[in-house]
Amino acid sequence: MNENMKDLIKGYKEFKDFHFKENEDRFDALIKDGQKPKALFIGCSDSRVIPEMITNSDPGELFIVRNVGNFVAPFKPDEEYHATASAIEYAVGVLDVTDIIICGHSHCGAIESLYKDIKHDMDMIHTMKWLELGLEAKNAVSKSMPSASKYDVLRQTEKVSVVFQLKNLLTYPLVKKKVTTKELFIHGWYYDMDNGVISYYDNKENIFKPLGS
Ligand SMILES: [Zn+2]
Repeated sequence: MNENMKDLIKGYKEFKDFHFKENEDRFDALIKDGQKPKALFIGCSDSRVIPEMITNSDPGELFIVRNVGNFVAPFKPDEEYHATASAIEYAVGVLDVTDIIICGHSHCGAIESLYKDIKHDMDMIHTMKWLELGLEAKNAVSKSMPSASKYDVLRQTEKVSVVFQLKNLLTYPLVKKKVTTKELFIHGWYYDMDNGVISYYDNKENIFKPLGS
């Protein structure tokens, strides 16, 4: 067995023998009471951005879907398999969450790849398609910041993409309906890995502002 797997299994044993034992009552209650998460969190699969860690959340508090780039594909009622759409439907239609957070982050590989030439072959066929969901943001930033540095362009694309994903989220009829009746609130967040600061999208001023200030 390789060292990575050994590390993970060691971590699991520590969880089972200490954390789970110490919190057994809380885990029991979560089974008895079921889950009533505070929000649906749509985040990036990036291993460095852990939703529970950056919100200091416990089991049962966040319903999470993570995908490459924290993208939300527009509503498309067809016979295909849509994992993120399914998580949205379940959170909004069954769990009745009151809030949806789409959280982007700095140094996002998905956003960076929008500016790179990626080989179009069968091994990356789903990734190439999926990354199309970031193109609106890329095109908007390329237009608005034609002479900015690469660093600034990437950070801005990460933020602007969150705004476009919020727009896509509103194409889901149930989301749109519940937002209109104020049963549901949607939030765009951006986690800056450089300093741990989360900012939120203010749609009135069209800028990101520090969260909780
Ligand atoms: Zn990412």
